[in-house]
Amino acid sequence: MISFLDLKSINNRYQKELKEACSRVIDSGWYIMGEELNLFEKEFSEYCGVRHSVGVANGLDALILTLRAWRELGKIRTGDEVIVPANTYIASILAITENGLKPVLIEPDAGTYNLNKENIIKAVTNKTRVILPVHLYGQICPMDEIVNAAKDAGLLVLEDSAQAHGASLNGIKAGAWGDASGFSFYPGKNLGALGDAGAITTNDDELIEVVRALSNYGSKEKYKNIYKGVNSRLDEIQAAMLRVKLKYLNEDIERRQEIAAFYSSEISNEYISTPKVNFKENHVWHLYVIKTAQREALQQYLSSAGISCLIHYPIPPHKQIAYKELGDIRLPITEGLHEQVLSIPIDPTMSDETVQQVVDVLNRFNP
Ligand SMILES: *Cc1c(COP(=O)(O)O)cnc(C)c1O
Repeated sequence: MISFLDLKSINNRYQKELKEACSRVIDSGWYIMGEELNLFEKEFSEYCGVRHSVGVANGLDALILTLRAWRELGKIRTGDEVIVPANTYIASILAITENGLKPVLIEPDAGTYNLNKENIIKAVTNKTRVILPVHLYGQICPMDEIVNAAKDAGLLVLEDSAQAHGASLNGIKAGAWGDASGFSFYPGKNLGALGDAGAITTNDDELIEVVRALSNYGSKEKYKNIYKGVNSRLDEIQAAMLRVKLKYLNEDIERRQEIAAFYSSEISNEYISTPKVNFKENHVWHLYVIKTAQREALQQYLSSAGISCLIHYPIPPHKQIAYKELGDIRLPITEGLHEQVLSIPIDPTMSDETVQQVVDVLNRFNP
C-alpha cells in the first residue's frame, strides 16, 4: 500500500529532537506565550523574510484575525468585497464571511490552478477592499502582478499561504508579498505541528500589534481589554515542535520538488495532464494535482493498485450547503476542475522506488 502522506514517518525522522523539545517545555513549567513562541515567531519571520509574525491557534484564525484587525483599524467595513479564487479550500471563504465581508469568487487559471491579474481586474468594483490570493497546492500566485494591481486600485492584499511555506517568486517568499499573510501548521501541511497551529506574517508594525491583541482576548496588557478579542494562541509545545521542524523545511521542499519534477517528466498518459509550473522555486508541492476526465475510473484503478489518492477538493465552496446563497453563480472553470482534479502521493519520505511505482501504474492506465 502506498499511503498519500505518511505523517508518522515524516515526524519519526526527528523523533529524538521532538521529544527533547517537548521535555524542555514540560520542564520549563511555562505552557502558553513563552520563550518557545517568541523564538519560533522570530525564526519564522526570518525564514519568510518579514519583520513580524504572530503565532495563533490555526490557519483559519490567522486569516480571520487579519481581516478583523483591518476592520478594527478602519481599513475595511462590513459589506466590503474581497476577491478570492473560487477553487480554494473553504477556510479562505469562511474568514471573509466570518468578518461580515462579501466573497467575490473568481475563476482561476486552469493550468496553474491559481488566480491571475486579468480575472482580478475584471472583478474589482467600488466596494472591493481586499484581494485574497491563495497559493494553492503550494504554488505561489503571480504576486508581482497582483501586488501591482492592488496598488493601482488601492486594495489590501491578504495572502493565504497555508499550503505554500517557502515558495518564492523573484526571491521573495510567500507571506512577504502581501500586506499580511495567513499560514497554517496543521499536521499535514508542509510545515506541520503535532496538532493545530497557525501564524500571521506582515511588515506592518501597526497591524501586528492589533492582531496580537485580538488573539489574546483583545488585550495588550493583562486585564486591560481594548478589543472584544478571542483566545487564539500557539502554545509552547507546538511552537517547540515547529522550531525543530522549521530547520528541516528546506530539505523537505527540495525532496518534494525532486519528486514533482520526476512525476512531471515521467508521467505520460493521454488521459492524464500534469500541473503547470513557471519556475521550480515557485512551487513547494504541498500537493501534486493531476487532471483527468476519467477521474472515477482512475481513482478505482489506483486504489486497486494500492495507491492512495485524494481529491482537493470534491465540492467547490459555492456549491456547499453552507454557502447556499452563492449557489447560483456560474463558474465553469472552477466546476470543471472540481470534477477532474486528483492528488497523487507526494511525501518527502517516499523512496525513489515508490515514486517510480506510482509513475509506472499511472502510465499503464487505460480506461
Ligand atoms: C489548511 C488551510 C487553511 C486553514 O488552516 P487550518 O490550520 O486547518 O485552520 C486555510 N487555507 C488553506 C488554503 C488551507 O489549505
